[in-house]
Amino acid sequence: MLQKPLDSAYHTDYDFSIRILKVRYDLMILPVAIEWKSDLSISQNVKILEIPWDYLQHEVKDRGSYLLVLKLEKEKFIEVGRLGKLMFQKGYYIYVGSAMSNLRARIERHRQKRKKMHWHIDYLTHVADGFLSIPIRSSQRQECEIAQSLSSILKSGPPGFGSSDCLCLTHLFYSEKNPLQTETFHNVLQRFRMRHP
Ligand SMILES: [Zn+2]
Repeated sequence: MLQKPLDSAYHTDYDFSIRILKVRYDLMILPVAIEWKSDLSISQNVKILEIPWDYLQHEVKDRGSYLLVLKLEKEKFIEVGRLGKLMFQKGYYIYVGSAMSNLRARIERHRQKRKKMHWHIDYLTHVADGFLSIPIRSSQRQECEIAQSLSSILKSGPPGFGSSDCLCLTHLFYSEKNPLQTETFHNVLQRFRMRHP
């Protein structure tokens, strides 16, 4: 039995979603919404849901935006291309970017520590102690909007970082604590992941 939210699984499990789209005429797929009661037992109320196939057919593609969460265990001076030598406090850095094709390959490139320095973020991924990628698949380029939302809940990083081609102050944000453990961060993530254009 499949137990995945079909409507949003494509952000995190792209292969699963592609497979489901391919076999949808051969399988009977019955998504249901279940409800937990306050004692954590499952309520008898079960709602049959509809799968928005047309929407998924259009949106489940290897493109969209991504967040990188990088950890620095110690304060460091890092030379960031033309931005020069900058001081980075220890903590978590959240970067937002986009790739409107080959999103997975782009994220994989960011994960590699040894590479030709091309983007500002390369100087940071090169020395970071921890790396986590969070894809937000979409047919729309949402990176600047995501950056705007992050700027309201996180401290802004160095001006101009990753934002040479847009009007944003920066595409890098800072948090002393792991942002994945905060509700505000998850709220922003969910808002963009669940948004239907
Ligand atoms: Zn921007």
